[in-house]
Amino acid sequence: MITLYNTLKRKKDILRPIEPGLIKMYTCGPTVYFYAHIGNLRTYLFEDILKRTLIYNGYKIKHVMNITDVGHLTSDQDTGEDKIEKGSKREGLSAYEIAEKYTEAFKLDIKKLNIIDPNVWMKATDTIQEQIDFIKKLEERGYTYVIEDGVYFNTFKIKDYGKLANLKNVDLLPGARVEMVRGKKNITDFALWKLTPEGENRQMEWDSPWGKGTPGWHTECIVMAEKSLGIPFDIHCGGIDHIPVHHTNEIAQSEAMYNSDMANIWMHGEFMNINGEKMAKSQSNILTLEYIKEQGFHPLVYRYFVLGAHYRTNMNFSLSALQGAKTGLKSLINKVRELSGEKGEVNSKYKEEFLSCINDDLNTPQALAVTWKMLRSNISNKDKYATLLSFDEVFGLGFDKILKEDIPEDIKQLAKERETYRKRNNFEKADHVRKEIEEKGYNIEDTPSGVKIKKYE
Ligand code: AMP
Ligand code: ZN
Repeated sequence: MITLYNTLKRKKDILRPIEPGLIKMYTCGPTVYFYAHIGNLRTYLFEDILKRTLIYNGYKIKHVMNITDVGHLTSDQDTGEDKIEKGSKREGLSAYEIAEKYTEAFKLDIKKLNIIDPNVWMKATDTIQEQIDFIKKLEERGYTYVIEDGVYFNTFKIKDYGKLANLKNVDLLPGARVEMVRGKKNITDFALWKLTPEGENRQMEWDSPWGKGTPGWHTECIVMAEKSLGIPFDIHCGGIDHIPVHHTNEIAQSEAMYNSDMANIWMHGEFMNINGEKMAKSQSNILTLEYIKEQGFHPLVYRYFVLGAHYRTNMNFSLSALQGAKTGLKSLINKVRELSGEKGEVNSKYKEEFLSCINDDLNTPQALAVTWKMLRSNISNKDKYATLLSFDEVFGLGFDKILKEDIPEDIKQLAKERETYRKRNNFEKADHVRKEIEEKGYNIEDTPSGVKIKKYE
């Protein structure tokens, strides 16, 4: 049994897939106007742990992630500039080049963090027609109104609007607390289609029945999710900042269009803070993965650091905390080296204990504690090794690759040569090559699972 905290119900929910054996999940992707910061990356790591946990439990996954390459404004109140156009002005590149540049940078970052790619990537700009058709249907159903600024969704037409965030009535009243677009009927109404203001030149804009403009950010996700997964699907994720506006508005559109909640389970990762404040571009306090590397940390140290806290508790980033994670990861890696060799059986008692942690709303800190307990236990080394590699399918720290990476290419080449001689029964030559390998500081072992090369410690 897997339980996951469902923001919509404000409690842990038992995962019950819509289709047996398959989990359909949608995770809101990056707005590609700058590098992802390590706060954003914490959210993608949490989603990766979720996905790995589901795979570990034997589920097939269909995971869709969008790339927001248009229409995400600098404010959540449908005011401000489009972030991509803003990036274009900043760097003197076209809006399309900006989107391309930071999409590639994002894909590289997640690769470095050993995050499994989604099955489907979708770009907002590839589904403009579908988004226009969607808005037209909402219009036919009477959920929209047109003002000078564009087409808006009337949130007061939704009976329990704001239920995801548990928005109180006071939050829903038009007031002076936030800047409001002129003509908007209710403070929570949101843009479905933003018209390009007269006289303004936009690089990205499309014709629509309402005039030239761009789709709103909240429409992008529902349209892509419906297209790729169908509605409802199993799990929708993002960071907690998506609860009150973005996800609330995805749900509103889903209810208007499909009379359904969009997804059964809504999961949200807590923030990565720095000096007690949310890491955010608008706060000018962001750090990138590149920065982490420049400070002498492997990206997987950041992954290990994130695993050390539950995804629903906020974390505070500091280099000294990262140093602690480095020490912890190093001792685990040393353990892998020490144990490597023959692989035994995955220990069922510890696996059960491990499962009881990760299947309880992804409790990675406890799962790490079980890992250390297992390593300190008196089970055989070969079983420890097999169990550790098995747990790493969820942790994603790449332990299976560590040993391979440690061996230089010339040593691997010599080992291959030795194998060739052995296959030809030329044991004299094979022995000669073995000595050469040993002189270079490596030891070669023939195990039932194949040849193992180890470095002399
Ligand atoms: P964005 O590109 O702004 O849409 O953000 C990408 C993802 O990162 C979203 O799921 C956000 O909720 C999440 N996010 C933004 N800031 C932070 C932060 N400081 N810590 C954790 N997640 C964040
Ligand atoms: Zn989204």
